[in-house]
Amino acid sequence: MPDMLPTVPDARGHFGQFGGMFVPETLMTPLQQLTVAYEEAKNDPAFHAELDDLLHNYVGRPTPLYYAERWTELLGGAKIYLKREDLLHTGAHKINNALGQILLAKRLGKSRIIAETGAGQHGVATATVCARFGMECVVYMGAVDMERQALNVARMRLMGAKVVAVTAGQATLKEAVNEAMRDWVASVENTHYILGSALGSHPFPMMVRDFHRVIGIEARRQILEKEGRLPDMLVACVGGGSNAMGLFHPFLNDADVRMIGVEAGGDGIMPERHAARFQGGKLGILQGTKTWLLADDDGQIELTHSVSAGLDYAAIGPEHAYLQSIGRVEYTYATDDEALAAFKTLATIEGILPALESSHAMAYVNKIAPLLPKSTVIIVNLSGRGDKDVETASKYLL
Ligand SMILES: *Cc1c(COP(=O)(O)O)cnc(C)c1O
Repeated sequence: MPDMLPTVPDARGHFGQFGGMFVPETLMTPLQQLTVAYEEAKNDPAFHAELDDLLHNYVGRPTPLYYAERWTELLGGAKIYLKREDLLHTGAHKINNALGQILLAKRLGKSRIIAETGAGQHGVATATVCARFGMECVVYMGAVDMERQALNVARMRLMGAKVVAVTAGQATLKEAVNEAMRDWVASVENTHYILGSALGSHPFPMMVRDFHRVIGIEARRQILEKEGRLPDMLVACVGGGSNAMGLFHPFLNDADVRMIGVEAGGDGIMPERHAARFQGGKLGILQGTKTWLLADDDGQIELTHSVSAGLDYAAIGPEHAYLQSIGRVEYTYATDDEALAAFKTLATIEGILPALESSHAMAYVNKIAPLLPKSTVIIVNLSGRGDKDVETASKYLL
């Protein structure tokens, strides 16, 4: 591992050999404009002042860094802290990014917002900020996901968003992304696309990461206050990879901080039964970016499966592919059963219902903490709350 990591991405969005801008010609100019507008906003104190004010007063930052005392005692090893992104307005970390991007859209003079959503969490975050800023909002969602996530569909509609059912293919997230891209090619003049994870074409992976860095910046300050030193280990679940990038990024140059990303192992590592891209995935290009993905020998994207809709996607964010390639972050997976067991542990020991996505990170902590000395400090990102998963969890656990 190098002493200091190079600044990534480069000007064209490359994280080493990963990332880039694999989009239709018509989107190149708007994406370049977005990149310029983002760089300007990043250097504008007025932009940060408005974002910080809303993050504090509207969204509820800073979130606590909570010492999970009973869980720590139960496992009998490392000391476990939870970064409580579940306590944010709308119930997950996704609002950090949705808010940052709508402020950018406002700067760009856009009046209409589109987004795509799988579990509906990003759709809800987008519908929320659109209501707050009086912008038209269209959310593309697979018809199958709409049925599975009826509560989130209702939440979006109640806040005035139009939810469009996508029936092509598997009728889940990948098809919804295609539909959102198609809309954007035709509407980019007045429309901003709020992408929901550290994925897609440049500048999205960089921008989404940056809007979530607040998670790691706060966690760093909080652990220094509580423990007087940096943590030994950070753990986060990885779908597209935004909550993990947000927690990890501010610690990347601290060589003694180990970082572990946890992918969805589904029913186990068998074709079409999981969504763990580093387990049997291939290098390829999907929806704007070059990264690890799950595809068959002909390059066709494979079906994926996870008990948590938010981790159920065939590609991983390109910065994770890069961090894995240089050995800075380790990646593992948790199966559906392990995640559900961890959900139960948190619920009964700490009185916290974690999102099933976050439960994958908790599952890894269940495994590793007992093996580590009591002096070890772990921070695990509780990326969202499990209210949306009560039905699924009840089916398996009650
Ligand atoms: C969407 C979601 C995830 C997965 O997305 P990342 O971009 O990998 O963070 C994880 N946790 C929760 C609660 C989510 O809603």
